[in-house]
Amino acid sequence: MTNVLKVTEEQLTQMEKFYIDDVKLNKNEHILFSVTSASINAYKSGKVVFQGSKAFEDYTMWIKMFGLEDEMAIHEAIYYTSSLGSDEVGKGDYFGPLVVCACYIDDYAMNKVRELKIKDSKALSDERIIKIAQEIIHHVKYSVLTLSTDKYNNLSKKGMSVVRMMAWLHNTAITNLLKKIKKEPDVFIDQFCEPKVYYRYLKGQENVYQEANFTTKAESKHSSVACASIIARYKYLKEMDRLSHESGYTLPKGAGKNVDEMIARIIKERGITFLNKLGKTTFKNTEKAKALIPKIKV
Ligand code: MG
Repeated sequence: MTNVLKVTEEQLTQMEKFYIDDVKLNKNEHILFSVTSASINAYKSGKVVFQGSKAFEDYTMWIKMFGLEDEMAIHEAIYYTSSLGSDEVGKGDYFGPLVVCACYIDDYAMNKVRELKIKDSKALSDERIIKIAQEIIHHVKYSVLTLSTDKYNNLSKKGMSVVRMMAWLHNTAITNLLKKIKKEPDVFIDQFCEPKVYYRYLKGQENVYQEANFTTKAESKHSSVACASIIARYKYLKEMDRLSHESGYTLPKGAGKNVDEMIARIIKERGITFLNKLGKTTFKNTEKAKALIPKIKV
């Protein structure tokens, strides 16, 4: 059990005084003090991490002491705590690639994220996503991976599940980014499968990050995941624009009826090989679309 508090400088000093006879040295230069009798690490940034049940008692004590009982306040403090998060876009869309982004927000970049009031990307329009993404990419650190439909289809036909592809993409984005930032932040993945499945799929990979926290609806709990989601969506939208422009078809998002109709039109006019460059042809939509094409009479 891990709990995190985000406290002010003044509160941090108060905590340091409280634990003064109970602290040990920590080699991590970002840590201000570590408590000996319980697993509590206080970071210079104001983040205090409590691990285990012994530390939980202290966690609740400080919440009461600092008047953080309000759940919203706690939620917000956690949301705006520096971390690394990853999310994907395009998994449920027939057209366009699968995009995974890992994003790290340090304390400095967090000011910008707060200022922009970045919230859940699912609640944002495409126009807003583009605007916010163009702004935040200059402040946060990120690593983005794009799996083209060609590659997706090849792997899929070889029997690789989309969950396995995602495990590989998330892990690669995270390890790439950790290498780049040279820090050890908390890592959050917007959960798309059970952790044990995730790690099973990564068995045999050379570089596997083992400390990830899997959280459902993570984009509403950690701003790093929200930003990862926004950047991934931005890249996806750009890629959809390019594919639409190059193919001459205005490709729809999602996997609904309008998508089936578009697939049918493309197969009829350009053939299945052409479709491979635009869509994830192993989706059920392909068969549904084929049924829409009238049989050619011989
Ligand atoms: Mg997600």
